Amino acid sequence: MRRSVSSLAFCLVIPALVAAPPKASATPSLHGLDLAGMDPTVAPGEDFFAYGNGTWLKHTEIPADRGSSGIWDQVAEITDQRTAGLIKAAAKAKAPLGSDTRKIGDYFASFMDEKAIEAKGLKPIQPQFRAIQAIGNRKDLAAFLGTTLRADVDVLNATNYYTGNLFGLWVAQDLDEPTRYAPFLLQGGLGMPDRSFYLDPSESMAAMRSQYLVHVTAMLKLAGLSDAVTRATALVALETRMAQVHASREDSGDVLKGNNHWTRSEFEKKAPGLDWAAFFSTAQLTQPQVFVVWQPAAIAGLSALTAEVPLATWKDYLVFHALQSRAQVLPKAFVDQSFSFNGKVLKGTPEPRPRWKTGVELTNQALGEAIGKSYVKRYFPASEKARAQKMVADILAAFRTRIEKLDWMTPATKAKAMAKLATIKVGVGYPDRWRDYRALKIVAGDAFGNIERAEQFEYQRNLVKLGRPIDRTEWVMTPQTVNAVNLPVMNALNFPAAILQPPFFDPKRSLAMDYGSTGATIGHEISHSFDDSGSLFDATGKLNNWWTPEDMAHFQASALQLVKQYDAYEPMPGLHINGKQTLGENIADVAGLAAAFDAYRLALGGKSAPLVQGFTGDQQFFISYAQSWREKSREPLLRQQILTNGHAPSSSRCATVRNLDAWYSSFPVKPGQALYLAPADRVKVW
Ligand SMILES: [Zn+2]
Repeated sequence: MRRSVSSLAFCLVIPALVAAPPKASATPSLHGLDLAGMDPTVAPGEDFFAYGNGTWLKHTEIPADRGSSGIWDQVAEITDQRTAGLIKAAAKAKAPLGSDTRKIGDYFASFMDEKAIEAKGLKPIQPQFRAIQAIGNRKDLAAFLGTTLRADVDVLNATNYYTGNLFGLWVAQDLDEPTRYAPFLLQGGLGMPDRSFYLDPSESMAAMRSQYLVHVTAMLKLAGLSDAVTRATALVALETRMAQVHASREDSGDVLKGNNHWTRSEFEKKAPGLDWAAFFSTAQLTQPQVFVVWQPAAIAGLSALTAEVPLATWKDYLVFHALQSRAQVLPKAFVDQSFSFNGKVLKGTPEPRPRWKTGVELTNQALGEAIGKSYVKRYFPASEKARAQKMVADILAAFRTRIEKLDWMTPATKAKAMAKLATIKVGVGYPDRWRDYRALKIVAGDAFGNIERAEQFEYQRNLVKLGRPIDRTEWVMTPQTVNAVNLPVMNALNFPAAILQPPFFDPKRSLAMDYGSTGATIGHEISHSFDDSGSLFDATGKLNNWWTPEDMAHFQASALQLVKQYDAYEPMPGLHINGKQTLGENIADVAGLAAAFDAYRLALGGKSAPLVQGFTGDQQFFISYAQSWREKSREPLLRQQILTNGHAPSSSRCATVRNLDAWYSSFPVKPGQALYLAPADRVKVW
């Protein structure tokens, strides 16, 4: 995906959502480049991000309830306001019981009714606590863990490797047999975002760990548990042992390491410890005979822990995770405690965001496409869909030409690339077919139960896919999401309506600017089909490396060059980007920007672009790109992103321009300047 959305579903606070726009000059001038936000005193060749955004960076204060602020947040803010309007209208509509409109309204209103939530206290979570207390042996433990499995991870589409449950399930096209769905099993169970938070010896991480212990202790105390410090210590020790067996973020992103097919009967032999029969039975997964085990050593390690660690510690662990995942629909004391760690410590955010924003986010999670249906009716005219489709066609054509012209690629690989390009299914705005929510029961006044039922509905929706034909029309993002995604196994792309709006995509500004922002996003997503993991999937979505060995060698050499380029970036003192962890996204940035530039020239039809706001068409293209990365982050959030995210921070992604020859002819970039690359060092993957 193009945006560096943190995919950690902590206490359901999704950092992609935003507060009021910052007071400083954050809003780009209407329908064009934000000239006031630029810093013309910075040489483009020294720091193109600062050249395009310097004044904005200087004057922008990150709102107190946010970990970062930027142009994506502004667009998300507008989208949120609109979505909230639709949701509130649904709440007022008194639509017939059982209708989607009624469900949207009831879901949101129940979440907003803090008085009712407060009055219920811990009552809604008591049945879960009782089930945990009833765990009397290892078989009971396995059976309970089976009930916690959710369809909450995603290896290749929305790429979310995090789940707070012991394991996570992803149902997707089998990588070896693209005609059928397979259940993918992923590692999970940590309360902090990643293994590095438990194992990294740095001082800042050690401080984070002691804060975490304080947080776990406080949550257990709030739930009325005695001896909270001792129990929290044992619980964090258990999570630390989990972290020790976890695969790294980098390894989890390696498809070849992840594609391990285990038959059902192999689990007992390969991952002894957990009572797998009991686990799969309560997880309702007794039918599948083959699973894809994404991090086999971690699954084995976690399974062993269920046999080794005292039951009492497991029970405390389960109580804490139940509280942590439901904190938002528990009394205020839990909301506050959860924020004090997950917001303040983890993201450096001083204040929580307004409750209605979390309400919009959760309603979107539960009933996203039902809301999306009214969103596009209201905010995404057919003319914009057509304009976006034209841009997609231009960029696909640019890719075709680029592939044809590659002198190093063998005809055999070129033919395969062309076949893949020809079968890409590009979704623009919204899905062809909407999701059916009839089976989802929403009860007015039951915020806790509604979240549970929505999760179960999503889980069941995924379970029924097993054994059915592949549905290539399915979307993984809602239309009101400000992002875009490539679904590599389905060879499909989603460009939601919400990313196709100003200032990214604006019929009232120059074509060059639109190609520099939305065009680059489209190019980015298309190129994922041809990047380090895209090269592994053929046109049918089968894990089948379609490159000849000599082409692969050339590609890997270019990739290595890019790894080195990003390894050298140091967005925080002492903390470098991991070039390998971010490679796929960096390749997509380089290739996407290059294709978008070609497509922009193609769209001009041989004419030269008019001077706008004092800049040539090519300059508009690149400055628009720089401004599309406008973002400022708090240090804790930035650190978390560098350590766990597949995307480099925005400022480094903006530096992609240094790999394009056209950038050097558009601005006075000279050898010796920080961003200058000699022609041979400019990475050209495609
Ligand atoms: Zn991407």
